[in-house]
Amino acid sequence: MTPKKPPTAFFYYLEDFRKEFQEQNPHVKSMSEVGKACGEKWKTMTYEEKIQYYDIATEKRAKFEKDMMDYVKKKFCFSLRMRNNVTRILRLKKEILNKVTKRSRIKKPKTRDTLKFYRNQLGFEKPSTVLIDGSVLFYLTSRGLTIEAIRNLIDDSDAKPITTECVLREMEYFSERYSKSVSDLHRSIGLANMLDVESCMHEKEVNAEKCIRSFVGINNTRKIFVATTVNDYWPLVNKNPMIPIITVDNGSLVLKQRSNKEQNRTIKKWCVEYPIQQPDGITKKDLKKSPSYKRLKGRKKFYGYAGKIALGDGNGQVRAISEQLGAMEWPYQKVRECLVKQLLLHPELYQDHVSPPANADADLTYLEYIKITSRDGEWGDEYTLQVAADFFEVIIVVLTSDEQVAVNDYFPHGVDDHKQVLFLSCLDEKYYNSMRPKSSIASTCKYDYM
Ligand SMILES: [Zn+2]
Repeated sequence: MTPKKPPTAFFYYLEDFRKEFQEQNPHVKSMSEVGKACGEKWKTMTYEEKIQYYDIATEKRAKFEKDMMDYVKKKFCFSLRMRNNVTRILRLKKEILNKVTKRSRIKKPKTRDTLKFYRNQLGFEKPSTVLIDGSVLFYLTSRGLTIEAIRNLIDDSDAKPITTECVLREMEYFSERYSKSVSDLHRSIGLANMLDVESCMHEKEVNAEKCIRSFVGINNTRKIFVATTVNDYWPLVNKNPMIPIITVDNGSLVLKQRSNKEQNRTIKKWCVEYPIQQPDGITKKDLKKSPSYKRLKGRKKFYGYAGKIALGDGNGQVRAISEQLGAMEWPYQKVRECLVKQLLLHPELYQDHVSPPANADADLTYLEYIKITSRDGEWGDEYTLQVAADFFEVIIVVLTSDEQVAVNDYFPHGVDDHKQVLFLSCLDEKYYNSMRPKSSIASTCKYDYM
């Protein structure tokens, strides 16, 4: 018989839990209810409490692996003796070995891996910037800890702790209403005042949560670590792996784990400006193999345009516009400023249409959208193209890699005579670049575009 795979640590705990639970709740008969209660308990248990079950699981797992190896050997030798069928034996061997190597590992906390992911894959360089909120400052002072605890956690002795005006204001507000541990609260406000308090410049006062969210931004271009204990309520921060979260779990400071799936998704979506070694990340080589790259390349050739198709850093669209307008007079930072100005001056044109760049599930206000658009490294979208067309009074023609549509164009609102036609290429709705006419057909098109 094939050795049977042993269950995980949780099931060994379940055996203990069930006995106790059924003694206390004799009326509960359903196994699923017991399982549910057990699962909830398991979630709240510390690693120390769980370790005895992990030990059992590890021991059983080791035995299983040994049995499996014996089984493989025996089966292999037996087959070899009895039947002289080499291919069959090899297949059998491979099959069984696969079973052994595919075993799931027992999970242990992996701060190191997550830290490595941020440092090596996402380019979070030392010294790190750590934005600390009131809850963590309170945690530190009430435990008699200092900022060093955070520095140790992320293995960066020069990490720079910062906080914002809104965090400080909220802490002061609570100190007036807080009934217990007032002295801790006062001490944590003292600690907050010792950090670099960065001004966040909102139009009006906002709560600390909103402040931190807009301060860090969806793409976290400043590569900030956020230290907070209340992240469960902050989906936008919490679910965005671009933002490393330092939080408190079972009474100790931890770096929030990011699963491999989350890591890969992040790399694919946002991490294009750094050299990527991971096989799952996009590299220039992968890019050139992708069907959309080939499609765009073909279209450029067909229409007679030249220009690079490349991975961008988030500034691709403004850079391409700047290049077309004349980069000397219109450096891309200035182009970005103009887009923001146009958005602020004419909310009536855009506020019903805009969606936050590069993150469709975020629920942002128009002002937050503008603020994000204003940041260096934030990706442009089709709305920012329309905004650019309006502000500069130009027609923007975009050759795309889209399967259905080869060309998108954006005409300025309320303008009879456009000043210029800008020609951009766009790969995967994201990577913009400037292009120039190569053939004579394309150059006539530049003047006759309609
Ligand atoms: Zn603020």
